[in-house]
Amino acid sequence: MALFISDHLQGTPKLRNRHQPHAFPFSSTAPLESQTVQVRNRGTIGGSLAEADPSGDWATVLLTLSCEVRCAGISGERSFRLSDFLKDAYTTALAHDELVSEIAVKVPSGNSGGAYIAFKRTAPVYPTASAAVQLTVEGDRCKEIAIALGCVGLLPIRVREGEAALRGQQITPKLIESAADAARAAADPQSDMRGSAEYKRQLVGALVKRATEAALQRARGQQVEVSHIYA
Ligand SMILES: Cc1cc2nc3c(=O)[nH]c(=O)nc-3n(C[C@H](O)[C@H](O)[C@H](O)COP(=O)(O)OP(=O)(O)OC[C@H]3O[C@@H](n4cnc5c(N)ncnc54)[C@H](O)[C@@H]3O)c2cc1C
Repeated sequence: MALFISDHLQGTPKLRNRHQPHAFPFSSTAPLESQTVQVRNRGTIGGSLAEADPSGDWATVLLTLSCEVRCAGISGERSFRLSDFLKDAYTTALAHDELVSEIAVKVPSGNSGGAYIAFKRTAPVYPTASAAVQLTVEGDRCKEIAIALGCVGLLPIRVREGEAALRGQQITPKLIESAADAARAAADPQSDMRGSAEYKRQLVGALVKRATEAALQRARGQQVEVSHIYA
């Protein structure tokens, strides 16, 4: 299985080694940072997507990017947009005789930045809630934005209303707060041993706020360190 990072999703992708700090949310505050040594060293992104665990990190991050999941089986190859690949909790579009063979991610345009923040009780457990934000600025305005929530639904959730509130606007603290409110409204969490549904709803709004602030600073070319939050 391979991860391709390319300027285009079509055609033959070229594997890039070029380091683009902060161009992707996972280049600096990687989901990997929040995981155990075993998962970090042995887990694969394809395995994570194929498992489609609602608490997994990778689908949430990749949902904010232009991402294609390529699958190979005895009857040939197929490609899916990530949102079409993920069908339900632990359920994907994979056929029984298929494997995830490649994951292609389009490089965001210049002036882009992203951040992924998970809230975890400890490193070896899945997050309680997580948020990924990827945005592009043009001048002082937000040209494009994608916000995704993890662990607060059966699938990662795009916060379309929050994205619409920020797209085309000069991002202010008030607008970021409205995106956080939209995230709380879009979340569909279950109460479990990680916290009550209401607790997770509040939490995910705060994560969106922090991730948006960090993504914005990175899109403006600032170096911002963001770490996952541990209870
Ligand atoms: C203690 C513990 C803590 C964890 N914490 C986290 C966490 O915090 N965040 C997080 O995101 N994940 C976490 N995980 C899950 C782990 O990161 C994922 O399972 C891993 O990323 C995927 O690992 P893998 O590639 O070994 O796939 P496996 O675990 O081996 O496989 C997962 C499933 O996908 C299938 N599969 C694997 N590769 C492919 C492929 N290429 N094509 C089709 N099907 C495939 C397998 O058959 C299996 O059904 C945790 C797991 C453990 C055990």
